[in-house]
Formats: sequence, C-alpha cells, structure tokens
Amino acid sequence: MAPFIEIHEITKKFGDFIAVDNLSLTIEKGALFCLLGGSGCGKTTLLRMLAGLEAPSSGSIKIDGIDMHQVHPADRPVNYMFQNYALFPHMSVARNIGYGLRRAGVSGAAYDERITEMLRLVRLDGFENRKPDQLSGGQKQRVALARALARNPKLLLLDEPLAALDKKLREDTQFELVNIQEKLGTTFVVVTHDQEEAMSLASDIGVMDAGRLVQVAPPKTLYEAPANQFIASFLGSVSFLPATITKIADGKVSATGSCDITALAREGISIGDDVTFALRPEKITLSRGQAAGPNQLDVVIEEMGYLGAVTHVRARTKSGEMLKIMLSNRRRAEADFTWEEEVVASFDPKDAILLPAEAR
Ligand code: ATP
Repeated sequence: MAPFIEIHEITKKFGDFIAVDNLSLTIEKGALFCLLGGSGCGKTTLLRMLAGLEAPSSGSIKIDGIDMHQVHPADRPVNYMFQNYALFPHMSVARNIGYGLRRAGVSGAAYDERITEMLRLVRLDGFENRKPDQLSGGQKQRVALARALARNPKLLLLDEPLAALDKKLREDTQFELVNIQEKLGTTFVVVTHDQEEAMSLASDIGVMDAGRLVQVAPPKTLYEAPANQFIASFLGSVSFLPATITKIADGKVSATGSCDITALAREGISIGDDVTFALRPEKITLSRGQAAGPNQLDVVIEEMGYLGAVTHVRARTKSGEMLKIMLSNRRRAEADFTWEEEVVASFDPKDAILLPAEAR
C-alpha cells in the first residue's frame, strides 16, 4: 500500500533563503508523526505546504495518492490546528467547534449530534455554552482540537499544540492527545521544538535541521541509535568521547584515545578510523575502585546536583573529557559520593554508541 503522505524532493525558497531544502518524506496512514527541530529549521513551512497555505518552490506532495499541486487548501482532506488555537472569542464553545461544520452546510440533527460527539471526545460536556475567555488553557486547547476534528479530516496538522500550556498540564494533555489520535485513527502530523514532547507523542519522529531531515525513526531508535552527534545531543543529554579504532573482533571494537573503550561493532567502521562514542548519563555507573570488565574510566567528580529521584554528576576523565552521569536514587547509597572524589565510571559495551567522527 502506498504511504498516506508522500513528500518528494520538496524545496521552499523565500527570496534567496532556502527554508526547506530538497526534503523527501513518507508518512503512513494512522501515524502520529512529529516534526522536531530548533527554531527556524523549516518545520512550520513544511506543515504549511501540506495544508496548502504555502506553495512549494519545487517538488511534489501527495496525500492519499492525490497530487496536491492544484488542490486548494479548502479542498484538501486536511485540517490545521494553530499554535494559538485561534478560537473566536465571541462564540460559544459549541459554535466554535461547529464552525467548519456550518460552513460545510451541516445543520439540524446531524450538526447537533456531531457537536455532542466532539464535546464528549474532548471531555467538555457541559461546557458548550461557555465563551473561550471562561475556559482554562487546557480547555481552550481541547476546543481547538474538537473544532479541527469536527469535519473528520483524514489528516490533522498541529503546530506546537501544547506550547501554550504549563508543564504539568502539558504532560497530561500529551497522553490525552495520543488517546484521541488512537481512538480516531486520524493521521496526525505535529510540529514541535520540544524533544520530550515529540518522544512522548510520536510513533515516528523526523528531526530537521536547516531545512533538511537529518533522521526519521521511532523515538527509541533516535535515542539509542542516533545517526550522528547532532541527533544524539538534540534528544536528551549525552557525553562524547573521541577515539581511534584499534581492533575489531567478535562483534566488538576496541578503541583508544581519550580513554580505552570497548563497544559493539557496526557496519562501515574499520581499524584506524577516528570515531566518537556517545554515552547517555543514565547508562554510566560510578563506583569506588576498579571492577571487572571493560570500560572502567578513572574520573574526578567536579559537580553534583541532588534532584530527589536522581542525582546529576559531572566528572572529568584523566584526559580532560567531561562525563555527564545520572545516578538513580533508588538506594540511598547510590548518590553518596562527594565533590573532588576520585571514582571509576563504567558502562556496558552495548551502551557506548559508536558514531563517525565529525569535523570539530
Ligand atoms: P519555529 O519553531 O521558530 O516556528 P520553524 O522550524 O517552524 O521555527 P519556519 O517557520 O518553518 O521555522 O521558518 C523557517 C525559516 O524560513 C525561518 O528562517 C524563517 O525566518 C523563514 N521564513 C518563514 N516564512 C517566511 C516568509 N514568509 N518570508 C521569508 N522568510 C520566511
């Protein structure tokens, strides 16, 4: 079956500036896909091209097998939920939700039934007569979502859907959004600059940088097997150790450089290659004295931050590299180290992510 969205070599220029650069991407039907990237990387421009609010300079977009080139925004099977929700302040919740339905000529019992259904979907039964300024931020967000879904679009585009909510509400709303998407099976494409939000929402994430897609993968793959240093540091905290490969045997590599490191081998790496190892903070343990096994690095603790459930530690290796370590405080003693203490940082070979070295 053909993918639901097929974006083929699309470029968008504003004058001489290239906002989206020869980007190709396919998205399956029913996916909750997140476009993730820093400010100005072209996410919103890509979303707007899907909606038809912006015309590509070159390339093509197909939605559900149909080339969108000549299709007017209003005729696309798409709805767009704006970042600021854009609710009509003078209209009630019910009239806001029903706006698109009325414009499409839906009326009478069919209209009433759909409003009731939508109110129930976003858990706003009983709120139908309120005005937007009588709602909390989270409730406004749900009205905007209901309005965007009322006409049952095949594709819903959401631009930073949770940005206006405070942290606690954002976490709850993330789960709610995922539940609604799963219940309806509508394809969602969400733009966000927040990596935690992308990871908790998405089935797949496309990470963008300077108008290009750097990697497309499920959240776990992006975190555990990032394609390069940019992705590794964009998603979560990480330390990098540069080294040169000295041996490859039995599915493992050995490397020396800033430290002696053993890791799992991967395709395309040869003896003599300069590489970088990426280490996630929670994968490193600290102990007093050497233990058996590879990857035992002598370090000195330089900083410690106790956060209750976890303690963040920064420790420097003998060659001067800084390691970020996160100790879980499941047992009291785990965070029982002190500043300037000399300890051993160790990690499993399978947790050292082997990346090609990059120009510094
Ligand atoms: P943010 O998270 O800050 O919204 P974004 O990744 O969504 O960022 P876009 O809005 O897609 O970024 O913009 C990409 C680039 O294109 C930016 O550098 C922006 O200044 C530029 N751009 C966007 N729209 C226009 C326009 N109409 N005219 C000129 N430049 C534009």
